[in-house]
Amino acid sequence: MKQTLYTFEKLKIASFDFTCCEGCQLQLTNRESSLPDFLELLDIRTFREISDEHHQDYDIALIEGSISRSDEVERLRAIRKQAKVVIAFGTCACFGGINSLKNRFPPEVCSNEVYSGMAVETLPVRKVSDIVTVDLSIPGCPVTKEEVERIMVRLVTGSQIALPSYPVCVECKQQLNTCLFELGELCLGPITRGGCNAVCTTGKTPCLGCRGATEEINMAAFLELVRHRKFSPEECREKLGFYNAFEAFLGHET
Ligand code: SF4
Ligand code: SF4
Ligand code: SF4
Repeated sequence: MKQTLYTFEKLKIASFDFTCCEGCQLQLTNRESSLPDFLELLDIRTFREISDEHHQDYDIALIEGSISRSDEVERLRAIRKQAKVVIAFGTCACFGGINSLKNRFPPEVCSNEVYSGMAVETLPVRKVSDIVTVDLSIPGCPVTKEEVERIMVRLVTGSQIALPSYPVCVECKQQLNTCLFELGELCLGPITRGGCNAVCTTGKTPCLGCRGATEEINMAAFLELVRHRKFSPEECREKLGFYNAFEAFLGHET
């Protein structure tokens, strides 16, 4: 006979997408084996990818995407007023993400080249914490479902939440991969927060740092490694800027 060992209050959760591909929200509908248990934790009030119901009485707001229009700024501020906990969900929300690449060009280039000069508002991309206070960040492009599940369980049980503090290299080595530096590639694994199980490097693709800086980042040592391996400062800057996740470390060093 199935027994209920614990009783808990379901999390009243809502998910909102801003400028993004919605890949992070989609992750939550993956992994069918654990989906029923995962949904059992949640009282979904608004979540376009999962349900067509829309309720405004949520406690936790997942914010997916970066902010690139003035109506998004207003919508985000209204969500912040309602939610007890605001979670930046995915790399776009945490750092600006791949959308930030457009910030390298003058606004008129984006309007003309992407929107053919149509009157479409497209402001420089900002991360969620540039607009409102963020209580928790879950990085990843996309987020890792297992990590999201772990965090939701901790939220439900009121336990402390911590992301892995070690770099991607640790998980890469656990997979017994040959280091991509040895194969002539520039990889951001040494300075990037682990937790993705080194999915890219295991597939022989260098890490581009979608999970942001690891806790005890040693940028000076990394840049020395890059110089030693004869990569140019431009190549290094290009990689560091890809997801805008190393914004705080860019500039004087490279
Ligand atoms: S972080 Fe990546 S997967 Fe998630 S919404 Fe942004 S582009 Fe899509
Ligand atoms: S391939 Fe990248 S992540 Fe893997 S050990 Fe080398 S530097 Fe670290
Ligand atoms: S290996 Fe790097 S780029 Fe790939 S998912 Fe992990 S942190 Fe992101």
